[in-house]
Amino acid sequence: MGKPNFQAEAELIFDELVATRRDFHMHPEIGFHEHRTSKIVAEKLQALGMEVQRGVGQTGVVGLLEGDKDGPVVLVRFDMDALPVIEATNVPYASQTPGRMHACGHDGHMSMGLGLAQIMSKYRDQIAGTVKFVFQPAEEGLGGAFAMIADGVLENPVPDVAFAMHLWSPLELGTVQVVSGPAMSASSIFTLTITGKGGHGAQPHQAVDPILAAGHIITALQSIVSRNIDPQESVVISLGQLKAGTAHNVIPEAVTIKGTVRSYSNEIHRMLYRRILEMSQNMATAFGCSVSLETIAIVAAVVNDEKAAAAVQKAAEIVVGKENVINKREMASEDMGYMLEEIPGCYFFIGAKNEEKGFNYPHHHPRFNFDESAMINGVATMGEAVAQYVLNSKSN
Ligand SMILES: [Zn+2]
Ligand SMILES: [Zn+2]
Repeated sequence: MGKPNFQAEAELIFDELVATRRDFHMHPEIGFHEHRTSKIVAEKLQALGMEVQRGVGQTGVVGLLEGDKDGPVVLVRFDMDALPVIEATNVPYASQTPGRMHACGHDGHMSMGLGLAQIMSKYRDQIAGTVKFVFQPAEEGLGGAFAMIADGVLENPVPDVAFAMHLWSPLELGTVQVVSGPAMSASSIFTLTITGKGGHGAQPHQAVDPILAAGHIITALQSIVSRNIDPQESVVISLGQLKAGTAHNVIPEAVTIKGTVRSYSNEIHRMLYRRILEMSQNMATAFGCSVSLETIAIVAAVVNDEKAAAAVQKAAEIVVGKENVINKREMASEDMGYMLEEIPGCYFFIGAKNEEKGFNYPHHHPRFNFDESAMINGVATMGEAVAQYVLNSKSN
């Protein structure tokens, strides 16, 4: 057997890719509840002769495809969870579970992962190294990547490089988006509580007004973006919830502000919170108030490794042609960022939009769907990228 042509191989199994994807689509399960889903994934990997581990990060599955020769360990990650969305697509393979929907395309991700596993298994005798197939639960803000890392997914064997991809509905079918360096933003949420001393609105001198302090803090926080951040960087601080008071003539005891912070660098993220705390603390002190800041990290930034991104760039050029490879980043978030903090790798996007067929709704929308032929590009691009690490020996 010669070196695989991943595009041709993916085309060969296209019917199967579609059938697998539609089966998952009909039976969506939300984060950490992927019981049926992970069972099917595990069984399919086992049927290919892989060593399979279940229950990694609760419902996660890991399959090891060991080549006949030694070489690098390449991790490929696919997410499995659906969303609490009521499907409104009217497709014959629509969700059979009310209130649950694969509205982000993770059904397609799993199908692509299993398809790639099938193709790569055929070439096991040519593989120099190991391909670690990781099927991750709970990507949608529930910490699935974190749970898998805590359960040792990045050990035994330790991956040398890690890849993941997303079918992307804002991106035209036939294109691939990849970038070296920051690719998706770090995301976190915070609650800032400003505490003063409640009192009568007519006797403000006997109270300590946290609303007045909050007003100044709200305005001042935006100066962090404009005055503390390198203008070359992109950062967002958005306040989305403000709660204070019960009546027009009562100075409340406290104000709570909830917001979100996004940036492309985990280092900048930490700096942003240092400044948010410094600024609100000092400002509150000036008004006689005190503050407390609670933060919850949602995900780390996705930062692509230069070499891994170059491998995906090359792979994508083979599959969709150089003119169809787009180099830009997204102000969206992905918990793959946690894996890429530990292991160099690359996260990329597969164009899946097809306006003519009505596949142009945003991710998480009740009518979200994608052009299934995008799965061919996904399998082929991922395959060509992995091949550069484990299938590039002279014997090929
Ligand atoms: Zn999503
Ligand atoms: Zn997603």
